[in-house]
Amino acid sequence: MKVLETIGETRGVLDAERAAGRSVGFVPTMGYLHEGHASLMRRARDECEVVAASIFVNPLQFGANEDLGAYPRDFDRDSALAERCGVDVLFAPSVDEMYPVAVDTTVSVSGVSAPLEGAHRPTHFAGVATVVAKLFSIVGPCRAYFGEKDFQQLAVVRRMVLDLSMPVEVVGCPTVREPDGLAMSSRNAYLTPDERAAAPVVHRALQAGRAAIMAGEREATAVRQLMAAIIEAEPLAGLDYAEVVDAQSFTVPEPLGGELRLLAAVRFGRARLIDNVGVTLEAPTAGGT
Ligand code: AMP
Repeated sequence: MKVLETIGETRGVLDAERAAGRSVGFVPTMGYLHEGHASLMRRARDECEVVAASIFVNPLQFGANEDLGAYPRDFDRDSALAERCGVDVLFAPSVDEMYPVAVDTTVSVSGVSAPLEGAHRPTHFAGVATVVAKLFSIVGPCRAYFGEKDFQQLAVVRRMVLDLSMPVEVVGCPTVREPDGLAMSSRNAYLTPDERAAAPVVHRALQAGRAAIMAGEREATAVRQLMAAIIEAEPLAGLDYAEVVDAQSFTVPEPLGGELRLLAAVRFGRARLIDNVGVTLEAPTAGGT
């Protein structure tokens, strides 16, 4: 595995691979890697001839009062894990390499960026879209692997690629969970033992919301209230939102129908955790009883 710190070397190596006829898979990350990241890298390894990954804690996507300074880092452990997963090129730039001057050019995706995470973190998705656009420009044409764990981020990236005709095929991958249902996240490292024990309530609430829909509930408000009540019953949890939306538009369909996504953001002490699950309701067949 080559570890590269400069944009020029990374672009050169991957351009040469494509010129030799090899397909490139790309897994962007902020490091402190876990099994969720590993699942993306292994999938890229299975589907592409050359696998690139990046580790970059992107300051642009953190708000002023967020955890940029505290974000967990362990480069030696990360590079060993990436190598075990079959990564060929690990791009690990410094902030100065990525942003030698303050950026005047940013990418913002309206629509899917607006609600939920966008409403709670107003500058977040423009920071994500800008760094992902920049990484795609460095890596070049590729298949890029993103986790459904960050479902709204995945939608933002898909929309950016579509709108700007980027030569990238975006691949969404399922969320990897701990045995008790907690979605794996680098931010789980912030949890105290009590908070860690309480945190699976997020997935339990989402599953209860999904079960209610599958049992016939068609009012978004009722699903939202059910999920909120489960989360608010946990004293260590602080609810940011629990919502059910259309999985493509991120608007709330009334009555609920089609491909739906239930999403929640919950604070436990210093950690703010997000998670989501999906459910698809078939359209009633014409002439059905
Ligand atoms: P991050 O390092 O948190 O920016 O995540 C890098 C990539 O890994 C993103 O595409 C995430 O959606 C994905 N990812 C993070 N956690 C998980 C998980 N538990 N399961 C699957 N993918 C994940």
